[in-house]
Amino acid sequence: MSSEPRTFAATRRGVLVGATALCCAPGLAFGATLDEVARGVFVRRGPDQEATAGNLGGIGNAGFVIGRDAVLVADPGGSLADGAWLRDEIRARTDRPIRHVVINHVHPDHAFGAGAFLGDAPEFIGHPRLADELAVRGEFYREKLAALLGPERAGPVVMPTRTVGAEGATVDLGDRRLTFRSHGPAHTRSDLSMHDAGAGLLFPADLLFVGRVPSLDGSLPGWLAELDALETLGARAAVPGHGPTLVETAAAIAPLRRYLTTLRDDVRRAIAEGRTLVETTATAGLSQRGDWALFDDYNGRNVTQAYKELEWE
Ligand SMILES: [Zn+2]
Repeated sequence: MSSEPRTFAATRRGVLVGATALCCAPGLAFGATLDEVARGVFVRRGPDQEATAGNLGGIGNAGFVIGRDAVLVADPGGSLADGAWLRDEIRARTDRPIRHVVINHVHPDHAFGAGAFLGDAPEFIGHPRLADELAVRGEFYREKLAALLGPERAGPVVMPTRTVGAEGATVDLGDRRLTFRSHGPAHTRSDLSMHDAGAGLLFPADLLFVGRVPSLDGSLPGWLAELDALETLGARAAVPGHGPTLVETAAAIAPLRRYLTTLRDDVRRAIAEGRTLVETTATAGLSQRGDWALFDDYNGRNVTQAYKELEWE
């Protein structure tokens, strides 16, 4: 769409400013770099694009945490090739063991990099519903990605080996404790967030989109409730699933809450007035159009998802 080149250029500038290392992987066509957003925490900004052969499916914010004793991959990237690039970036910085890989939800741009870490034999951490969601969708996602990149670059579907139940979970990297929380249906039905309370840093994964229009694949009221829950953690800064590599949490949540609230209210009103789904898709959420990249690619789908959910209220 027309906003892509502008957004992409802004993305590249944003990534290059403050970057700590230049990309060295020949396969990664879009020249990604990593920002060190906090001591030992490295994040690659994904461009506001759909997955293509050029970006290797690496459209989310991938990254890792280097602790005293081990490395945790907070988001492995969007394909085997993207994950391999990320693993090279880890190995360029440390030879500490890669013991934990977080698959923070079912979507391919945050899951398919996991295959690059199988040789490290880490635990793969996920939501209790992730295995079922991957069992239903994983092969479909893999085939789509393989058609785009070739099967050797797409990678396998990797299942979680450790799930985070209602009581939460903790990973101790020696000098840093990371706590995990499995969320109710929101962005998807398998959203897992990570919090470094010591650093005041939240990793909400795709519960937080910044700049790129969110995609609704779980529950609209649920997502709004989970945003409230994330804010109560009091983390000053966050690494969103899409957008800049580091944002101020409350300021970044505000536009997302505004979009989701507008979507909810517009769709509820349309249903109350007896409008059809097609009629509703033509109008709901449009007041937010100027605030988001890729708006036209996702808003209609979000309205459809919201309508299906809210018509049963
Ligand atoms: Zn997602």
